[in-house]
Amino acid sequence: MTHDAGKAQQALETDIAIIGGGMAGASLALLLDKYCPQFSVTLVEQRPLPQSGPLQLPSFDARATALSAGAIDIFKSLDVWPVLQTHCAMIERVHVSDRGHAGGAQLGERDLGDAQSLGAVVENAVLGPVLLEAVRNTGARLLAPATVTNLEIGARGAELLLQVSGAATTLRAQLVVVADGAESSLRKQLGIDQRYVDYQQQALVTTVEIDRSHDGVAYERFTARGPMALLPLPARDGAQRMALVWTRPDRESSADEAVGVERLLALPERDFCKALQDEFGWRAGRILRCGERHHYPLGLSLSDEQVRSHVVLMGNAAHFLHPVAGQGFNLTLRDCETLAQVVARGVASNCAPGELHLLMDYAESRQRDQALTIGFSDRVPGLFSSANPWLQVARQFGLLGLALAPPLRSAFARQAAGLGL
Ligand SMILES: Cc1cc2nc3c(=O)[nH]c(=O)nc-3n(C[C@H](O)[C@H](O)[C@H](O)COP(=O)(O)OP(=O)(O)OC[C@H]3O[C@@H](n4cnc5c(N)ncnc54)[C@H](O)[C@@H]3O)c2cc1C
Repeated sequence: MTHDAGKAQQALETDIAIIGGGMAGASLALLLDKYCPQFSVTLVEQRPLPQSGPLQLPSFDARATALSAGAIDIFKSLDVWPVLQTHCAMIERVHVSDRGHAGGAQLGERDLGDAQSLGAVVENAVLGPVLLEAVRNTGARLLAPATVTNLEIGARGAELLLQVSGAATTLRAQLVVVADGAESSLRKQLGIDQRYVDYQQQALVTTVEIDRSHDGVAYERFTARGPMALLPLPARDGAQRMALVWTRPDRESSADEAVGVERLLALPERDFCKALQDEFGWRAGRILRCGERHHYPLGLSLSDEQVRSHVVLMGNAAHFLHPVAGQGFNLTLRDCETLAQVVARGVASNCAPGELHLLMDYAESRQRDQALTIGFSDRVPGLFSSANPWLQVARQFGLLGLALAPPLRSAFARQAAGLGL
């Protein structure tokens, strides 16, 4: 359905333009190819997308992502899973413990009812090349490095101004999907506001090496200052590795002896491992080494609108959640699949992909899941000090368990929302 129009004017045309080649944009390109291959798709990414070597995209940095069973099913349906699986560690059990209390609770596959597995963990640096290679194998056009500098929405569609290799180019699309990240400059250009809650916490992220097999156990530990998670990773060169997400307050308090994020980042490796061991305990074994340490400010941002005529906001541009429960990308993947299905349904009734009523259908069908998931993740910061019995139940099962086990999560979310079980 696409043809490059008049190279002299450097104007390009596409049915669907996706701005941002991160986890959201790349996944959506694959799902559109699966559900509505008749539409041409152009993926625009401001960073280079080399076919080999590391990617310098925010999505595909040093983090690891816990994929839910539902996300794995989507990747299976996209034929991406066979390759991805070879780089994943499957989660066999989730072990939950409270600092200061002996024992702990375990969540295994049997607790999941219908769900087939607890999920898997993949390093983002691996996920990126696998997704982008799969996108290259679709008919999608990749424009990178190319930056969208202006976005105008008219009655017939969207017109985007791009900078490609220093030259200005116009791209026209019936539907533009804005997946340009949490700081989304295009959302601002569209005049769409967002609500922001600053949790005044940071997530310190690194990879650690331990002295024994993790046996597929994902550990979640609650401390007075926030939760920490150690997630299984595939062994590398014989080393047993786990991904750490360690939540700490933004600033050090002189009143307690908490070591704030900045000091943890600056500690020599040996001292950092010792501080981590002291806080986490010995359940996962001795912590031998750690990789590069990174930190992410924790907040909740929600776009006031997710759809307009010819426009959809996707991924972090639409909602950015607390990461410790591991839900942000899993939620985005479900958003992407529904959008592709709705656009495909529009074909049967002769609807162009950017028509408002179609996009409103999409927004409506995502409302409940988004509200439950976002509501749950927003309550995370309060989980650790509250005496509310339902929040204590959440602590028993663990955030990760709730995130990976839909029936539990939904039971908790229904109760927390006052709907009853
Ligand atoms: C510490 C941490 C741990 C997490 N762990 C999990 C987890 O275990 N499970 C889970 O489900 N989720 C997790 N998440 C959430 C997950 O990382 C996000 O859902 C995901 O990064 C969303 O990516 P995105 O593509 O929306 O945005 P981004 O990754 O920000 O991508 C946006 C892209 O748009 C490009 N771009 C920006 N502006 C332009 C422009 N004008 N023109 C062209 N290109 C542009 C950027 O270069 C970038 O590549 C975690 C998040 C954090 C912070």
